[in-house]
Amino acid sequence: MDNVSPEVRSRTMAAVHSSGTRSTERALRARLAQAAFRGWRTNAKDLRGCPDFVFDQQRVVVFVDGCFWHGCPVCCRMPGSNKAYWNSKVARNQARDRKVRAGLRRDGWRVIRIWEHELQECPDSALDKIGTAIARV
Ligand SMILES: [Zn+2]
Repeated sequence: MDNVSPEVRSRTMAAVHSSGTRSTERALRARLAQAAFRGWRTNAKDLRGCPDFVFDQQRVVVFVDGCFWHGCPVCCRMPGSNKAYWNSKVARNQARDRKVRAGLRRDGWRVIRIWEHELQECPDSALDKIGTAIARV
């Protein structure tokens, strides 16, 4: 990514943002259906941060977070150039994530975060995480 123009880079990032996260969301949706999870809805615009999955009855919300945009500690690597720009952008996202999660917890929700890479590398453990949270209620 170091040798590409800013325009190309921002187009690339936009593609990472939309297709990456959306396809992992789709994957999780399929797995949830397969594993016979019941009573969930997606993209809950009525809740803070618009969680990707909501289990209303169990008061559990799930966010599927893109590793780059949300600063995954395992795989978020800043592009070589414009580091300061991307650092502050991701830092802002992380601050917003913290605020959203704190607000949801205050409202009585259990918040599950699943990183995009977890879903790609280990979808079963992502499912377990959700299953455990729901069973614990
Ligand atoms: Zn990651």
